[in-house]
Amino acid sequence: MRIDVISIFPDYLAPLELSLTGKAMAAGLLDVGIHDLRDWTTDRHRTVDDTPYGGGAGMVMKPEPWAQALTDVAELAGRAELSGSADLAGSSDDTPATTASGTGTAAEAGEKPVLIVPSPAGAPFTQADARRLAGRSHLVFACGRYEGIDQRVIDWAGGDFDVELVSIGDYVLNGGEVAALVIIEAVARLIPGFMGNPESLVEESYEDGLLEYPVYTKPADWRGHQVPDVLLSGNHAAIARWRRDQRLIRTQRTRPDLLAGLPDAALDARDRQV
Ligand code: SAM
Repeated sequence: MRIDVISIFPDYLAPLELSLTGKAMAAGLLDVGIHDLRDWTTDRHRTVDDTPYGGGAGMVMKPEPWAQALTDVAELAGRAELSGSADLAGSSDDTPATTASGTGTAAEAGEKPVLIVPSPAGAPFTQADARRLAGRSHLVFACGRYEGIDQRVIDWAGGDFDVELVSIGDYVLNGGEVAALVIIEAVARLIPGFMGNPESLVEESYEDGLLEYPVYTKPADWRGHQVPDVLLSGNHAAIARWRRDQRLIRTQRTRPDLLAGLPDAALDARDRQV
């Protein structure tokens, strides 16, 4: 998968090089390009914002640098020879280095790249979205700041991208970078080959509409708190039943909306006794 992130604070994306996403990049599962929007400005001050039409507080991100940045990123990353380039930052005139990769491009897959615009006014991001996006070959993130990006950029981008306005929660951040990190991590861990043990994805929270059961490790007695006996029993059927019960109890307590949204067939008669 190819991921490009455009931001006026490219350093915010540095954590992508850590841990599992860093390993996935090194292994060629994930090609990531981080771009400074200011590299697509044309004035001496590298201006990316201006006052809002209609008045009001704050500034709005100007359309011109965004349009040029998105055009270049889509075009450059669509070129097969660039598949695998680790960093296209400010590369509108440069030819980025090429590294070996088997990830392919959106153009090769015959689909538009997905343009994800983080926004508190977007659709709530869910595990189902992460799974859907994990099947795409090219994601581009446009990280807004100030009062956001001029709406015309989002309308215009629909020609070349599948555009999605995405919110990571009902609160307001200073910029889209943290939201991009959240979305990238949720998506990347679902790419086949990303997780050392894909089994760890199977029973995770939200995958089937339930939250995960509580987990324990050694020692069995810690400061007088005991691991539930059933987990020490070696009885696999009893452990599976206990875990299922715990998932149902936990979901009922903290996210009853998830339980209410499950189709009837998702719960059997035994589940309904919990
Ligand atoms: N004036 C905007 C509003 O009320 O909808 C908020 C702008 S916010 C200060 C600046 C940027 O942070 C947004 O353009 C967006 O990229 C990002 N952002 C803030 N909260 C977010 C959230 N909950 N989910 C995704 N992105 C968010």
